[in-house]
Amino acid sequence: MKFSQLKLTTPYLNLEPLFFDEVEPTPLKNPFLISVSHEAAKLLGVKDSLEMDEKLVDILNGTHKLEGSKTFAMCYAGHQFGYFVPRLGDGRAINLGKVNGFNLQLKGAGQTLYSRQGDGRAVLRSSIREYLISEAMHGLGIETSRALALIGSDTDVARERWEKGAIVLRLSPTWVRFGTFEYFNAKGEHQKVQTLADYVIEESFPHLKDVEGMYLKMYLSIVKNTATTIARWQSVGFNHGVMNTDNMAIDGRTIDYGPFAFLDDYEANYVCNHTDYDGRYSFNNQPSVAYWNLAQLAKALSSIVNYEMALSVLDKYFGFTYEKEYLSIMYKKMGLIEVDEKDIELFKWLLRALESATIDYTLFFRTLSHYDGDKKPLLEIAVFQTPLKEWLEAYDIRLQKEKISKQERHEKMLAINPKYILKNHILQEAIDKANDSDFSMIKDLLKVAHNPYLEHEELNHLTKPTPTRAKNIKLSCSS
Ligand code: AMP
Ligand code: MG
Repeated sequence: MKFSQLKLTTPYLNLEPLFFDEVEPTPLKNPFLISVSHEAAKLLGVKDSLEMDEKLVDILNGTHKLEGSKTFAMCYAGHQFGYFVPRLGDGRAINLGKVNGFNLQLKGAGQTLYSRQGDGRAVLRSSIREYLISEAMHGLGIETSRALALIGSDTDVARERWEKGAIVLRLSPTWVRFGTFEYFNAKGEHQKVQTLADYVIEESFPHLKDVEGMYLKMYLSIVKNTATTIARWQSVGFNHGVMNTDNMAIDGRTIDYGPFAFLDDYEANYVCNHTDYDGRYSFNNQPSVAYWNLAQLAKALSSIVNYEMALSVLDKYFGFTYEKEYLSIMYKKMGLIEVDEKDIELFKWLLRALESATIDYTLFFRTLSHYDGDKKPLLEIAVFQTPLKEWLEAYDIRLQKEKISKQERHEKMLAINPKYILKNHILQEAIDKANDSDFSMIKDLLKVAHNPYLEHEELNHLTKPTPTRAKNIKLSCSS
């Protein structure tokens, strides 16, 4: 099956017109293909080469429609940095329809009813970042929207300076956000809250359809999924940067990648978003922000779910699910199998030691995965060695309790401690090259994005330490 032979349906358009704006994409000038993800294409049942599909660029540019496709933008509201904005919506994303359980969307395809002051465009720089990170998060085992292809163009787009417009074709099982419910609740449109909940159950939680108490159970599923996703973010050192409720997917997956970053050196209070002056969305705040966002969702659902009951579900399950997932990953990252309650102290000590040692988070765990008692390779990558040395002495004692062989432990650790992480300085290098029309690095990064735990000898330069000037930098929100 070729991509251009897909037949789409548009179930979202069966909802009432208040839910969306039927709008045509505005094509970019001289569009050209930059990259395709065959792994993402497989999700749609596409086996034929995407590059050989002569319609691909036109489909991404909105000048050719897939069969059954009707284009539209979705309406939503959201809490941005704690403040409620009653109407946001897809200001630059245009949906094409759905196939094989995935909703196809063009990001950067022009203005919609919800563009407000925006130009409806996405620049090449941010599109490369979103394209690659979508695939990388999946490679790391984190639920996320995916990216099928990326096109560039000659269209000038005004940001801090002139840049070129690009479009990413994104896929997600759902594009409904916490903010979609907030939109209708804030307008007092309680019937539409229920209509949307029925749609969400059908799309994301079909096992709950017609089950007694299904709306509360839907909320419970959202709580658990969100907690699991955030736990996985924390385990790989991912900082999303803009956890507004309009950027929270209703099925708990990660969406809307903006000024995100992976930690270079471990720094609990790292803030990747340059405009986040209060550090609301700092790395360590992410679990509590997710909890706060889920409480806003509980409010938005209060016409169909008892608010007190929803809050008690949130209290009972969020922290529990989060801790369980996070600790189980972190113990595996440490190579601990015979876990008991005393290990939490060793883990907390590790985080303190990493912070005081000033050490690359990813590199530490990957190096620890080869640990055979020789502390040198680990101490060499720390700026301050004493805190780490003391911790490693305690770790040596703790490892004596483990029953499996050293080799077996190393294998297990290498399968959970990624070698390749798309840190900002690496993405920036790919962007700088792309700005000079050299897209070769995007291909390399896609390869490690899909298989971050494997060794790719020819790409080992991608694991070199982050240059000091580029460590834990803040990123502009402009995109
Ligand atoms: P974000 O923080 O990127 O998720 O964006 C917040 C809101 O602003 C969303 O409703 C976006 O669709 C909208 N938006 C962001 N950039 C643009 C743009 N260049 N043109 C139109 N709308 C935009
Ligand atoms: Mg957004």
